Amino acid sequence: MALAKTVVTVLVLALAQPGPLHAYPVPADGTAFWKLITSFGAAIYGEPSERTGELVKSFKPESGMNPEELGEYTQGDILFTNKGAANAGLGRNGLKAPSARWPGAVVPFEISYGFSNSDRQMILNAMEEYHKHTCIRFVPRRGTDYDYLYITNGNTGCWSSVGRVSGRQEVNLQSPGCLTKIGTPMHELMHAMGFMHEQNRWERDSYVTINWQHIQSGRNNNFDKADQSTTDGQGVNYDYRSVMHYSAKAFTKDGADTISARVGGGGVTMGQRDGFSRGDIKKLRAMYKCSGRTSGL
Ligand SMILES: [Zn+2]
Repeated sequence: MALAKTVVTVLVLALAQPGPLHAYPVPADGTAFWKLITSFGAAIYGEPSERTGELVKSFKPESGMNPEELGEYTQGDILFTNKGAANAGLGRNGLKAPSARWPGAVVPFEISYGFSNSDRQMILNAMEEYHKHTCIRFVPRRGTDYDYLYITNGNTGCWSSVGRVSGRQEVNLQSPGCLTKIGTPMHELMHAMGFMHEQNRWERDSYVTINWQHIQSGRNNNFDKADQSTTDGQGVNYDYRSVMHYSAKAFTKDGADTISARVGGGGVTMGQRDGFSRGDIKKLRAMYKCSGRTSGL
């Protein structure tokens, strides 16, 4: 009950918050959260694929794409493994109605021993960016922590589920592909914190043009827009520089841009993975109710 009360309180505070509460966070309310998640259909659940592994293995940074856009998962890199779905009570009657948020902005984690020292250091550096700019704290898991992130390279591709699911939830970072730039582990962690992709926001058509003719066949659904009723669009500024924005060539079939900026014209870099944008920091701080001075960027 206490948890449910907290969830409601957080939601009310979120709605009352003036100013730019940037979309596209998932809803704090458990029911709305699962409505959003289930709107993706069965495709969001599954197991990592071998083909994704091959694509990430041959990933080249000069392609202009990001490795997390190579996955065959929902929107490229969103995956709830069957085990994770079972943990969350999905596919059964009666959801556990979990919150998508991490209570107290504390995120217990474990990192698999499968990473090299430098890969491991990059993951820790990605977490450090959260510590530097927000009140979110990644802390090594203690035995009493039931919900936690397990960061591994034991599967193929770069992917995460969205928000706090329940129990152990994996964030997969196939190395070296997914650890080429710090922005990729930051991106996957931001999914785990409860955020979706920037270019899927419901109002994105005012800011970008989707060039459908250049998208690989069967991948159009990666560009579906969010349902306005399950996302918070008030006072939002669309953020081309978000670490959650696809690259301009995401899912291209012919090398041409699949996303073009409508506002701001030239010079807009979409899909950067160098670090947080100012907007990313605002979003994270708003979702987790960080108080005090922002470190800014
Ligand atoms: Zn993503």
